[in-house]
Amino acid sequence: MTATQPRTERGTHRAQREHVAALHAELTRNGLVTWTSGNVSERVPGEDLFVIKGSGVLYDELTWEGITVCDLDGNAVDGVKRPSSDTDAHAYVYRHMPEVDGQVHTHSPYATAWAARAEPIPCVLTAMADEFGGPIPIGPFALIGDDSIGRGIVATLRESRSPAVLMQNHGVFTIGPSAKAAVKAAVMTEDVARTVHLSRQLGEPLPIAQSDIDSLYARYQNVYGQ
Ligand SMILES: [Zn+2]
Repeated sequence: MTATQPRTERGTHRAQREHVAALHAELTRNGLVTWTSGNVSERVPGEDLFVIKGSGVLYDELTWEGITVCDLDGNAVDGVKRPSSDTDAHAYVYRHMPEVDGQVHTHSPYATAWAARAEPIPCVLTAMADEFGGPIPIGPFALIGDDSIGRGIVATLRESRSPAVLMQNHGVFTIGPSAKAAVKAAVMTEDVARTVHLSRQLGEPLPIAQSDIDSLYARYQNVYGQ
C-alpha cells in the first residue's frame, strides 16, 4: 500500500538501517512474525540514538527507508515519522540497560502460547542452558502506551541470565550486544518453546541440575561466546 511507503528526510545512518532492515528477514524466514507485527532495533554506536522499524511497514516492502532513527526518548529524528508502536519499550530498555545494543520483539506462536499462560519455559534442554542460562522468565502484564512494558522487561531481565523475557499475555522481547544477537535469541526462544511444548505432550520433561546448567552456561558463553 502506498500509505506504508516511508518518506526519508535526511537519510542518516544508512548502513546501519540497511543492516537492521535485512535482519527483519530472519523474523519472517523463521516464522516468528505475522503481517507487520514484530520489530528489530539497534543502538547507534557512540550516539544517543537507535534505529527501529517504522510502524505498519510490511516486511516485503521493508528497505532501509522503512527504518526510523529515534532518540533515547523514542522520538523519531530521521526516517518514517511514526516508528514502531513498541518504540517506547525499546527506548526504555536502551536508557536503563547500557550494555544492551540490540532488541527484538515478536509474537512467535509457541513462545507466546507460554506467555499467554504466564508460565516460564523450564530449562530442560542443554541448548537452553547454553543460551539462556536457566528458564525463560515471564514478565508482568503491561499495556502499550507508556513505560510499563519497558519497566517490566528491565525488571525481569535484571533478575535473570536469560536474554529473553515472555511478557504475560503478549509475547517475546529479547536483548543482546547487537541486533543480530537479539535476533538469534528470538529464534532460539521460539525453538525451545516448541520443543519443550512437544515434550510436555509426551510426559513431564526432566529438569537439569542447577550445577549442570551453570557449567553448560559458563562453557558456552566463555568458550563459544561471540
Ligand atoms: Zn507486541
